[in-house]
Amino acid sequence: MSKILVFGHKNPDTDTICSAIVMAEMQKQMGVEAEAVRLGEINKETQYALDYFRADVPKLINNVEENQEVILVDHNEFQQSVDGIEKAKINTVVDHHRIDNFKTAEPLFYHAEPLGCTATILYRIGKMNKIEFNTKLAGLMLSAIISDTLLFKSPTCTEVDKKVAEELAEIAHVDINTYGLEMLKAGTDLEAYSEEELIDLDAKTIEKNGLKIVISQVNTVSIPEVLKRQENLEQAMNKTIEKEKLALFVLAITDILNSNSELIVLGERTDIIEKSYNLENNRTFLEGVVSRKKQILPMIDKNID
Ligand code: MN
Ligand code: MN
Repeated sequence: MSKILVFGHKNPDTDTICSAIVMAEMQKQMGVEAEAVRLGEINKETQYALDYFRADVPKLINNVEENQEVILVDHNEFQQSVDGIEKAKINTVVDHHRIDNFKTAEPLFYHAEPLGCTATILYRIGKMNKIEFNTKLAGLMLSAIISDTLLFKSPTCTEVDKKVAEELAEIAHVDINTYGLEMLKAGTDLEAYSEEELIDLDAKTIEKNGLKIVISQVNTVSIPEVLKRQENLEQAMNKTIEKEKLALFVLAITDILNSNSELIVLGERTDIIEKSYNLENNRTFLEGVVSRKKQILPMIDKNID
């Protein structure tokens, strides 16, 4: 039998990559042949974590064959998954997102918890199964939690995430704040990216009521610094809108130090955002908003209905 492939979502973030590596390792410890793979390029924040804890970059895949056995981490919606997912055999899902556009032909393991990070769930599953987490695996899980919760500042962060992170930091021998800030800052080094790359770095596509919407997010330590590129960013966004036939493209520029976001909003249906916020120069500033999942997405969802 071929190996089970373990992967997270397209436009991979630190949780998606690290959770795939950890889940594959857990499977191996339980006697299952599994390999972590990825569906896109590694961002700078994730690369920092992989380098720090000396982990290999998972192999890139673009699609899966029919009946390929797979484990999904950090996502379930098919449009965020690998090409060919409809005909794959989904063995397990470990995720902390809403469940939408998800259907299987056969029974499966499905671990869902409304926690701040997939790695937090993996840690709990690992403990139940008496898995041994070494420095590397603990460090990768800690990195995932820091990334998804923006060092515990996101409203998605729970007490469970904090507690697990503290336990992991001990195994990984790092100071959470020092390491965490360094890792997050590594991800805000945006200069080398083109505008096309920037808007695609952490993009999520959703479909609702026949509308296709992309919500993309970039982390920064200075919103004005990113806004210097607004004109070129808008050009890139408009190209994507045309190519992908999007009704709405929202780019959230998130200040990880002060926990605010500025949105650039384009497309035919900007009224969806304007139901909640006034746009000026295609922009709006959202005080205290850092979470796409808990703050931006619910607002869009509500305004579409
Ligand atoms: Mn993710
Ligand atoms: Mn996640």
